[in-house]
Amino acid sequence: MGNTPSSRGEDSNWKSDARYAMESGVFCVICGGPFDMEGDVYNIDPKEERYRWLFNFRLLGSPEHVLEHKVTSEEVDLINTSRSEDVFLSEPAWFSMTGCGYIRVGGDAYGGDAWFDALCDDSDADTLFPLHDVCIKISCRIIDNSKANRTDIAQLPALTVLNRVLQTRFRANAHAPFEMRNDILDLCAIWEEYLPRSVIGLTKLEWWGGEYEKYYANPLNVPDITSFALGVLKASPNRKHFDDCIPATTRAPHSLERLPPELLDQICNYLPATSVITLHRVSKTLTHNVPLDNTFWRNSLLNGSLLPHIWDFDKSELGTPAFETFSDWKIVAKLLAERRFPISGRDRRLEDIPNGLWNRCRIWSIMEEAINLYFLDTPHKHGSNGAIDIPYQHSLPEHDETLIFGDLDAVTPR
Ligand SMILES: [Zn+2]
Repeated sequence: MGNTPSSRGEDSNWKSDARYAMESGVFCVICGGPFDMEGDVYNIDPKEERYRWLFNFRLLGSPEHVLEHKVTSEEVDLINTSRSEDVFLSEPAWFSMTGCGYIRVGGDAYGGDAWFDALCDDSDADTLFPLHDVCIKISCRIIDNSKANRTDIAQLPALTVLNRVLQTRFRANAHAPFEMRNDILDLCAIWEEYLPRSVIGLTKLEWWGGEYEKYYANPLNVPDITSFALGVLKASPNRKHFDDCIPATTRAPHSLERLPPELLDQICNYLPATSVITLHRVSKTLTHNVPLDNTFWRNSLLNGSLLPHIWDFDKSELGTPAFETFSDWKIVAKLLAERRFPISGRDRRLEDIPNGLWNRCRIWSIMEEAINLYFLDTPHKHGSNGAIDIPYQHSLPEHDETLIFGDLDAVTPR
């Protein structure tokens, strides 16, 4: 992992509100953001609409252990909004920086309230995670996207898997020093070539410089995502043709290769983009008959099957026929596949990436890493013989940029 804030030459006694929130267990372990903000500090106005997502959060945990973290004695009917018996997801929760330090769930509108001690360290019970609604939604998208490769979790609700991933990380971090106990996803880590992994890693100077804005931008609702992609498209040179080198066929076609291109075209309409790319690379004949042209790259971007972290393009705006023919949709897809952005040396077309998309990519990377590690440590068992499948990482080629966008010349179709 990277460095820590104190190693960056700053006042080692200074701590940001975000850092205090982490140490006291009232922060989102996924994004590192708080659930309440102090007004008039660092020019933040908590009432601004763009910050409202930070105040919307719930408690996630294991149903059998939830009541062990309740600090109030009054009986209350807790409502599990997860629609599953395997995992507990509370109603909207509430927290105040100037309050008692506990989290309230429910209220008069819900027939009473209960107060909870979140991220409580109890070796005999699973803990309770306070998580932003948007962080839960993004995490569930990543998990749902992974299910095609894990038959053992295909039937499990994404929330159940999310709870297992976080509980496992929390237990694994049990022996960390007090101030790092709740940092189960390495949110304090800092690398020289990237911005800090979370707002917790910002220095005092960076706070006063407004660097928190990127981390406090709504990662789910990014209204300028389509105009940004169009800007990338217009800044890219036209693609004359689909200019990938197509090798000449050297043998008679067989099996799938004998299907008429029109029929293959119809079949590909029902396949995910990554499967079409795989099919394209199976043989020289299929390279001819399953072309990865501009229409393919554009449609795959629009329907969300190519880049799972981008699902919300405005189709009416981005699908304009004027952009179909010569514009280089492949390079747009390749640039938007980036989820980590170096401070310097990044492609100039990504300089104006919207803060919300930047934050989404950051959170996606953090959770994707955690979920992949969980799967690697949890061998994939299936069938009655308990056979162990290949590790998750090896069965997920669609996340390998080289395999998706790699130079076709480097692939040797038969
Ligand atoms: Zn969050």
